[in-house]
Amino acid sequence: MWIRENSEGAAEPRDNERGKTMRKRTLAAALALLLLTSCGGGGAGTARWKHTEAPPGAEPVPCADAVIMDGVRVDVWESGGKKYVARADAEAAAGGELQGDVLSAGGTEYMPCPEFAGANGFPVLTDPEDGTVYISPSAKEFEIPERVRVPVLMYHALEDEAWGFDTLFVRPSEFEEQLVCLLENGFDPIWFSDLSHVGDFDRPVILTFDDGYDNNCTVLLPILQKYNVKATVFLITGLVGKPRYLTAEQVRALSDSGLVSVQSHTVHHPELTELDREELEREFSDSRLQIARLTGRIPIAVSYPSGENSAYVRRTAGEYYRFGVKVNGLIWNTGSDPLRVKRLIVPRGLSISTFARVMDEIGAG
Ligand SMILES: [Zn+2]
Repeated sequence: MWIRENSEGAAEPRDNERGKTMRKRTLAAALALLLLTSCGGGGAGTARWKHTEAPPGAEPVPCADAVIMDGVRVDVWESGGKKYVARADAEAAAGGELQGDVLSAGGTEYMPCPEFAGANGFPVLTDPEDGTVYISPSAKEFEIPERVRVPVLMYHALEDEAWGFDTLFVRPSEFEEQLVCLLENGFDPIWFSDLSHVGDFDRPVILTFDDGYDNNCTVLLPILQKYNVKATVFLITGLVGKPRYLTAEQVRALSDSGLVSVQSHTVHHPELTELDREELEREFSDSRLQIARLTGRIPIAVSYPSGENSAYVRRTAGEYYRFGVKVNGLIWNTGSDPLRVKRLIVPRGLSISTFARVMDEIGAG
């Protein structure tokens, strides 16, 4: 395996930084507790949500606004100049019960939109061009559990014939063999969003594919479906629809498959450390918006092109994403900086015995 000792290897968060983070977290937890106890309403530890009855004649009426929740379009309603979604629709799209203020009318419950998203920790992104509101329950804020070892494997294209830097082109048969090896050895391929409950998995592993080659749809997806396994594709949004790259329809198909999480690999794949602030923000924010438009889901992770990053790049990335992913390194530990996630490069031609041995050693819990 192409495991290089990372030059930044020793630069894990220093103890004093870690102490600061811990203190901040303790303070945040104390504040949250204070808030809960001071405005606790219906039940112990729950916030008090307003439940109002719409006066006669002020029942919500349908409105043309677009709200997309994790790829699902939800009807929008209007009453008294405020926008709402029907609670049942929003809960169906979110896959669970929601908290927040409720307006009742004619036996139907409505929730103010997008306020209900904030009440449930769901990120909201409004398209500045057409006003579409994207809400992603799947990208809900969560505390990242500490000290779980999660190998993050890095692939690019799956193809027998290499047409570029050939180590990036793992043969489909090699990948399938590696996947079977992982499954037989008790590994659970997860997404970054699954880190919220990473303790549920015996041997979590994250499979990532950079750049967004068309064979991620034509070759990778059928293999994932055969074994019902999850993967993450880091998309260069500016290359969507170009020869050899995924089309917009293929990106949507991957995302809707329920097996592929589409995340950002910037718009133009530039060397991020060489960009000025405005260019850097555009690479992060425009790719986030374009992925929301393509998939209906807000991405939470970015893969730094060629792995290039600096403290400044990571800080800016952190304004848009929870996770920043590098090219090389050893195994990622969830207690370390989520904007410096290390990956293991799986090159073309790697023997299955080496793969099995390395995974067994690094995934040893
Ligand atoms: Zn790349």
